[in-house]
Amino acid sequence: MEKILALKNLKKHYPILGGVLRREIGAVKALDGIDLDIYRGECLGVVGDSGCGKTTAGKAIIRLFKPTDGHVYYYGKGAESKASADLAREKKSRIKRLGLRGRLQMVFQDPTTSLDPRMLIKHIVAEPIKTLKRMSGRDLEERVLELLNRVGLTRDHLLRYPHEFSGGQRQRIAVARSIATDPEFIVLDEPTSALDVSVQSQILNLLKSLQKTLQLTYMFITHHLLVVKYISDRVAVMYLGKIVELAHTRVIFSKPAHPYTHALMSAIPIPDVTHQQQRIVLSGDVPSPADPPPGCRFHTRCPFAVDRCFEQEPLLETIETGHLVACHRKNETQKLVSEKFGQPRSDY
Ligand code: SF4
Repeated sequence: MEKILALKNLKKHYPILGGVLRREIGAVKALDGIDLDIYRGECLGVVGDSGCGKTTAGKAIIRLFKPTDGHVYYYGKGAESKASADLAREKKSRIKRLGLRGRLQMVFQDPTTSLDPRMLIKHIVAEPIKTLKRMSGRDLEERVLELLNRVGLTRDHLLRYPHEFSGGQRQRIAVARSIATDPEFIVLDEPTSALDVSVQSQILNLLKSLQKTLQLTYMFITHHLLVVKYISDRVAVMYLGKIVELAHTRVIFSKPAHPYTHALMSAIPIPDVTHQQQRIVLSGDVPSPADPPPGCRFHTRCPFAVDRCFEQEPLLETIETGHLVACHRKNETQKLVSEKFGQPRSDY
């Protein structure tokens, strides 16, 4: 498969300032060194608790802010072996000159706040095309109408303001704006979380159909596991600024290997009275990213922690082709979970 992005040791630390002189006395390690390849045409789901770094990773990739360290190699079409740019290091002017602003886009969680309430829909959708594609006049009008039609809206919607639409329609407008510049890669940051359940499925189907027609690559950030199962080809599970498990969606849902992934799976509500597995309730809160625990970051809440977990940080290692796990006990978690909580389901 052809790579589109390669993240190497990507970090984002926010400084904590203190004292009279406002010196840096620490850092919130929102993203603390992730390595990940994203392939052209796939949908990579990213799941984890609030504050685990998934949105930070998405924003760092499309360079909404500069990462503290690491690399985001972007591979243009056909450039399999040589990266066209390192988005983490390039100057903003060069990113603009290479036209990368339009090729990497983002859809935000809440369309109510991501759309300017004082702008007409036709101006909201036209803005990125005017700025990045230098299109104007009749061509621009036709392009805006074509984009609205693609997301299920019509000419009648052009002269309305965002508050005149429902939540689902507003998210359709946000999607239209994100595809306006012919992007290759879109970060979808919980695009259905703020919507009613009935509308969520419509937006998911719209995103799936656009991905196929426009050959898009997605990074789909969510905390909803069944949504990720529906839309993603692969899933990355994050905990406290790191990836702890990465695998194809089918593998993650049938044989998870990290205790944290098992805990997430056990929280999926299942309408089946014969299902025997107890829910794995994690004790305590997620530790502060300003002071992550030594060794394995999950050891303060892991029901299977052993002495080694308190001292030595586990690396993200391959246990079978395409399945990577960061856990010292990765080869025995299925057995440990079955003994303590009952047989995990393999058919979510
Ligand atoms: Fe639990 Fe240890 Fe594995 Fe961390 S390394 S997830 S503490 S068993």
